Amino acid sequence: PYDMLVVGGGPAGAAAAIYSARKGIRTGVVAERFGGQVSDTMAIENFISVKATDGPKLVAGLEQHVLDYDVDLMKTQKAVRLEKKEFIEVELENGAILKSKSVVLATGARWREMNVPGEQEYRNKGVAYCPHCDGPLFKGKKTAVIGGGNSGIEAAIDLAGITEHVTVFEFADTLRADDVLVKKANSLPNVTIIKNAMTTEVIGDGQKVIGLKYTDRLTDESHLVDVAGIFVQIGLVPNSEFLKDTLELSNRGEIIINAHGETSIPGVFAAGDVTTTPYKQIIISMGSGATAALGAFDYLIRN
Ligand code: FAD
Repeated sequence: PYDMLVVGGGPAGAAAAIYSARKGIRTGVVAERFGGQVSDTMAIENFISVKATDGPKLVAGLEQHVLDYDVDLMKTQKAVRLEKKEFIEVELENGAILKSKSVVLATGARWREMNVPGEQEYRNKGVAYCPHCDGPLFKGKKTAVIGGGNSGIEAAIDLAGITEHVTVFEFADTLRADDVLVKKANSLPNVTIIKNAMTTEVIGDGQKVIGLKYTDRLTDESHLVDVAGIFVQIGLVPNSEFLKDTLELSNRGEIIINAHGETSIPGVFAAGDVTTTPYKQIIISMGSGATAALGAFDYLIRN
């Protein structure tokens, strides 16, 4: 068995793996997609001590650093089940079962969907989740951003520089984004912000998106806006479905951990965006990955 098996290869998983391997114990990493959300990130300017970098560069750095140690890195492998028997067993989608004395879960999170008609049908045909990846596809076209939080307003500012026009739709009567972002968005001539807007349907022509329907929650009137691209920016869902009946999750599906990264199962620790740790950020994920690995190491030397 492994001494420490890390599930997830984002910043949290990478940090946990490095901290584990540096203890000289047998360490494995299983990652569906090494790099995690960082792979989808363009500009990173808040990774302390590195003034500016981008996702692919940081992911390459993470991998180099992990592989600098004696770590079994199992890429493009998905964990589908966890069970504590004599050892902690992690079953992969391909049927293989990995055994370990301790586990760090660092499976991160993914974009939340609108759940309206047309969204699935026109996914990648106008409905997008990553402005950095797909923004340039809508050069000179009209776009919409769903959600007025930090990611929504950031997306609007980003898209305003590429596309003809951006309309932001916020469900609430206020924007949750930081003031500096809202000010910036309001200063741009090709950004419109609509509040109290409930999006109801993605409209397409059979091939691609041509519009978005929303209801004005104050007047109850339905409107159709003509857009070619819709960027959904309404938050993150933790990748914890496979753990639902296994360990304690919060009502938002986040793995509940204590200050040592411990979950409700002895020997199973968790870190990063999949946990109840507030503020989902790269540097915070890395810190919690280190905490979880040290917590797991502590557990190992006591058991
Ligand atoms: P993730 O990065 O989500 O990684 C999760 C890992 O687990 C992945 O390897 C995934 O494939 C794997 N995984 C998931 N489920 C399974 C499974 N069942 N089995 C095996 N593996 C699995 N933060 C900043 O600090 N600065 C920024 O500028 C910034 N910009 C961002 C821009 C975008 C577009 C996005 C999406 C996020 C941004 N963030 C930024 C947030 C930051 O990327 C996350 O907080 C961070 O990546 C979380 O790290 P993590 O390791 O917890 O999870």
